[in-house]
Amino acid sequence: DQAVVKQLKQQLQKVFGYSSFREGQLDVMMSALHGRDSLVLMPTGAGKSLCYQLPAISSDGLTVVISPLLSLMQDQVEAMLAMGIPAATLHSGLSSEASMQTLQQLQQQQIKILYVSPERALQPSFIERLQGYSLSFIAIDEAHCISQWGHDFRPEYGQLGQLRQYLPNVPFMALTATADAATQHDILERLQLHNPHCHRSSFDRPNIRYVVQEKYKPLKQVKDYVKKQKGAAGIIYCGSRKKTEEIAESLQQSGIKAAPYHARLEHQLKESTLRQFLRDDIDVVVATIAFGMGINKPNIRYVVHFDIPRSIESYYQETGRAGRDGLPAEAVMLFDPRDAQWIQRMIDEQDNEHRRLVEKQKFSAMQAMAEAQTCRRLVLLNYFNEFTDKECGNCDLCLDPPKRFDALEDAQKA
Ligand code: ADP
Ligand code: MG
Repeated sequence: DQAVVKQLKQQLQKVFGYSSFREGQLDVMMSALHGRDSLVLMPTGAGKSLCYQLPAISSDGLTVVISPLLSLMQDQVEAMLAMGIPAATLHSGLSSEASMQTLQQLQQQQIKILYVSPERALQPSFIERLQGYSLSFIAIDEAHCISQWGHDFRPEYGQLGQLRQYLPNVPFMALTATADAATQHDILERLQLHNPHCHRSSFDRPNIRYVVQEKYKPLKQVKDYVKKQKGAAGIIYCGSRKKTEEIAESLQQSGIKAAPYHARLEHQLKESTLRQFLRDDIDVVVATIAFGMGINKPNIRYVVHFDIPRSIESYYQETGRAGRDGLPAEAVMLFDPRDAQWIQRMIDEQDNEHRRLVEKQKFSAMQAMAEAQTCRRLVLLNYFNEFTDKECGNCDLCLDPPKRFDALEDAQKA
């Protein structure tokens, strides 16, 4: 083992230019190299990619990385190639020539890390090829997409467990930055992880200040807030496509560089909005949940929730996009109890009983966070089973505690 650790350290420096491992990275890498399954829970920006990239290059076989987004795969492959690591990607968006070329390189064992879309990973012809290679391990990034109760379910992700049947001796590594107990359970079960090494870092993002405000004149509140941010980069999440367009337009009319983003917009428009946002040509993206996964923009200073999300997982994933650079950032949610009642009704109207129960539970935790009277960070971390009673000092309730005499006041008013 010592020799392996030494080799990993050398490659960490030589290939990636880093001087030390971050918390948990080395253990996760060693598990993969020992052929053990693992579940890796680390917050956004903690360095999950390295957990599979480094063991991939230091082992003999091929490592397959499954990732839900083309852009994520492309970014990583480019970064790998720039470091001189033979990496490639296979997905439906490639020309047949490009695919052929990659397949040939695979055949000739010229590739160490192969990024594939889940669709591709499940194709029988592709699985057959994999059976012919010597595989080091399979990494499943953004593994929360496996859970159908999660906030970003991908049906093909749910089926990835099938791979086990065909590749019984290949270890799996599942990685995610947001998974509550139910989602973790789903990941373990659906991927049939055997006696996995589970690593969990604290999900805490101490540089993010959590704030919940009463929603009374939402459009004006948002406008005032954005203006105060003086051109800093931010995302405003809201519950409908229509609202993204209305709010973006209203911000534009106030001279703010804003653009809407939702699933129904044309692909090219979405791409260009994303690019402009990354280049700081647009300051604010007003978006549905369609915007976000894999956005690697370190200097997002705030995330506003115009509407309450359906779960703490969604909320945490979305707010987690702020402050990846470690500098102070803010997560502001506008809350109206009537919104919560409306969502509860929507959930109650569903036919599937199990789904109804799970969604109810997830939403009631979210609502409890919005209505909390004590440190919001504690509520969030407790939800992810991190128990501490140290108040954070960096949320609205810590900074400006609610007055404790409301009842008396109300009585007097009455
Ligand atoms: P995650 O997938 O967990 O959100 P990434 O894998 O994208 O995070 O890594 C976030 C950043 O941290 C990247 O810029 C990466 O290069 C950097 N990083 C990862 N591990 C280390 C390390 N051991 N030392 C220094 N930087 C690291
Ligand atoms: Mg990642």
